Amino acid sequence: MKKQIAVIGLGRFGISLIEELTLLGYDVLAIDNDSEKVNSVVNTCTHAVQADAMDEQALKSLGIRNFDVVVVSIGEDVQANILAAIILQELGVKKVVAKAKNNLHGKVLEKIGATVIFPERDMGKRLARMLVSQNIMDHIELSPHYSIMEFRAPEIYIGKTLDQLGVRKMMGITILAIKRGEQIIVAPRAAQVIDRGDVLVAVGKNADLKKLYDME
Ligand code: ADP
Repeated sequence: MKKQIAVIGLGRFGISLIEELTLLGYDVLAIDNDSEKVNSVVNTCTHAVQADAMDEQALKSLGIRNFDVVVVSIGEDVQANILAAIILQELGVKKVVAKAKNNLHGKVLEKIGATVIFPERDMGKRLARMLVSQNIMDHIELSPHYSIMEFRAPEIYIGKTLDQLGVRKMMGITILAIKRGEQIIVAPRAAQVIDRGDVLVAVGKNADLKKLYDME
């Protein structure tokens, strides 16, 4: 069974989320209190309705409690964002994901029990990491201290095995996969040799990962 997902607030973030979920084959319910915003997505997603996220009855009548995930992507109006998150929690939505504007807003959402996201802050962090190292191609933050990083193998790795590089023993990092052109080597062994052009996908502590991808 596919997850049932609803997105409330059709700003730039909400719309791009809906477009991507639709591409991935999900039927998304899009909600906004502005009829123009609702009309702008009717061609993109299966269901788009005009409703006020602060109106409990309106959300109830949309059957919102039956959704697995509801994303509150109302940005500017912090009050509407928080009230929507509370209503959704009280209606029994399994997972409420809410976009926070700043740390304090994030704390309030956390207290309500929502999963909090900070798109601007997180994208800024991600971009910073990509900019400071030529090698980094992608970065997923797992916690403030741990990440998954995708990076081009630095020149001095070429021809060496993971064991020789001391990736696990010395750096405490696990290489999840190596991308080699079209091929993907999943969970490579210690004896795996790195080729020119390899892209490594690694998980570990941020400080340890930095040593690995910054090695020139
Ligand atoms: P972004 O920064 O991602 O562009 P915005 O804050 O500009 O986000 O957009 C938020 C969207 O949320 C707008 O389309 C707005 O009409 C909608 N919105 C604001 N308040 C409510 C509400 N109470 N109920 C439903 N939608 C709302």
